Amino acid sequence: MKTRQCVSCGACEGMRHFHGRGETLRVKGMERRVDNLSGWECQNCGEIEWDADTDSAERYCDAGDELVIAARQMIGNEMKRIRRKLHLTQKETVQLLSGGGHNAFSRYERGEVLPPKALILLMRLLDRYPYLLTDAKTLGEGADLRGFEHIVHKEQESLSVS
Ligand SMILES: [Zn+2]
Repeated sequence: MKTRQCVSCGACEGMRHFHGRGETLRVKGMERRVDNLSGWECQNCGEIEWDADTDSAERYCDAGDELVIAARQMIGNEMKRIRRKLHLTQKETVQLLSGGGHNAFSRYERGEVLPPKALILLMRLLDRYPYLLTDAKTLGEGADLRGFEHIVHKEQESLSVS
């Protein structure tokens, strides 16, 4: 058996060579299977080093990237479904629930950006208990402190003529 020292934990003969391995990556119930992987795996710390003369690393990373994109898309579709169920426009949803730029929510729905965890949770709560939307509107009033009003006091102002 081919062995060598682990590059990560330093265990002597810690890494063993493997080839023809299949791995399944999972995220949020979605899976991608990648076959025919080869490389070195440490029996001590689990470090994996893909064989550089194969496309193992590339195929493994591609599968991971694909899953992340698919997961964002899935969350985006869910956000859209719940928003429509609540009869809110994207703009109203931003104003009421998420804050951020006017197109923030459309970017979430298109799967370009993963929404903050708190927003996903809030949307799912409103999906389950839609009547809470009325409370959300009431409780949300005054929660946004960015809209300062300012009053100018002109009593002590003097005019200068130039
Ligand atoms: Zn190791």
